[in-house]
Amino acid sequence: MTLHYDLIAIGGGSGGLSAAERAAKYGAKCAVIEASKLGGTCVNLGCVPKKVMWYGGTIAHTLRDAPDYGFDLQVNGFNWSELKAKRDTYVGNINSWYHTYLSDSNIDEIQGFARFVDRNTLEVEGKRYTADHIVIAPGSHAIIPSVEGAELGVTSDGFFDFEEQPRRVAIVGSGYIAVEIAGVLNAMGSDVTMFLRREHLLRKFDAMLRETLMEGMLNDGVNIISSAQLERVVKSDDGTLEIQCANQQVHSGFDKLIWAIGRAPSSVGLDLEMAGVEVDEGGFIKVDEFQNTNVPGVYAMGDVTDAPQLTPVAIAAARRLSDRLFGGMKGRKLDYDLVPTVVFSHPPIGTVGLTEGEARETHGEAVKIYQTRFTPMYNAFTKHESKVAMKLVCVGAQEKVVGCHMIGLGCDEMLQGFAVAIRMGATKRDFDDTIAIHPTASEELVTMR
Ligand code: NDP
Repeated sequence: MTLHYDLIAIGGGSGGLSAAERAAKYGAKCAVIEASKLGGTCVNLGCVPKKVMWYGGTIAHTLRDAPDYGFDLQVNGFNWSELKAKRDTYVGNINSWYHTYLSDSNIDEIQGFARFVDRNTLEVEGKRYTADHIVIAPGSHAIIPSVEGAELGVTSDGFFDFEEQPRRVAIVGSGYIAVEIAGVLNAMGSDVTMFLRREHLLRKFDAMLRETLMEGMLNDGVNIISSAQLERVVKSDDGTLEIQCANQQVHSGFDKLIWAIGRAPSSVGLDLEMAGVEVDEGGFIKVDEFQNTNVPGVYAMGDVTDAPQLTPVAIAAARRLSDRLFGGMKGRKLDYDLVPTVVFSHPPIGTVGLTEGEARETHGEAVKIYQTRFTPMYNAFTKHESKVAMKLVCVGAQEKVVGCHMIGLGCDEMLQGFAVAIRMGATKRDFDDTIAIHPTASEELVTMR
């Protein structure tokens, strides 16, 4: 007998779980199909284990600075496998919690890989399921380049499998994952070399952020090789990896190579053509502003669409979709403007809204920039110094704040509240009229001249 549901979500990650969870709250009969572990990339191979490692790196930096605060410390090493084991247990507990949560929420969990039979029917491990509404949210996977020897490297998935701390690591890429992993490994004492194919880290971010991050990472001891055109990876006789680039440049002696060059949508294998669901040339499922695909009753969200590949974006889109489908909230949809995001680099970055470059392109002369750069009080007497840089991008006579960019200690936790203010249409005057909190780094955002 074919089981019928009001909603089936393909993918038990941030998007799929959130769509089913919200729909079930409205009384809809729901199921989630997951081929791997519940929680998706974020819980298993992304945000959660990454943040654990980031905290580890932050502690390493604190230990480095502790003698400057008068502590007489002897650090007898760092046990990578112990931290990994604890991290795996923590992630495992979240997985288990999801199983319980789904059953408590009356959502059926279907294990296996889903394929469309037609627009209302899915097949998983030989069994068929039908639904009035099908949400496609299988996420994305890391890209491996087509250079010779690429299989000698791993992606961020492989990074989370490392049982031991690598001694010497090459990281190829310049985005979120490259800078986050480089920061963690460097803080923990690995020798890290980043290979950028162009000039900059985080090319699409505000110039102040990418320049300050580059300076900070170099200052922390990360090797950064820009404009590197990788041609080949080979394994040397001693088992280490050699990276051969154009112009006879050779870099050798790496015990690990990590590819961090972006993620591709996991839309292949779903037999989307059986339902007639369209994808673009990059394999991203085409959706409108309401997450509708071109097929009525079939929706998509998260990394499988061309939206920002961020967990909270997938969650927000999913919840709004279920509000619209089952909660009677006609017209409810996610506003993709002003998505705040944090890069857990060392130091961290918080950013929301238009970069200075984007604002000048759209608003020309009407743009006014306020910025500051300073040494935070924490570093007043530490040998190691890390700068904080902040920028407000304002537009028009009212000086509406359309962008806020910051990098430095604590900026990861600073952004959320400012993102609320900016979303509400705050002007520079509103920032100025807000009483500063002293002594903090964030007070600089309300005292800029
Ligand atoms: P990103 O898109 O952030 O960055 C990848 C970068 O690698 C590209 O922008 C490109 O930069 C460079 N690149 C692309 N192809 C090649 C190549 N063949 N050789 C060398 N460099 C190349 O991808 P990530 O994999 O870092 O992360 C994927 C997504 O996951 C992010 O975009 C983000 O949305 C999400 N994420 C979010 C996090 C967070 O919220 N903190 C953390 C981690 C990931 P260029 O063109 O300048 O060379």
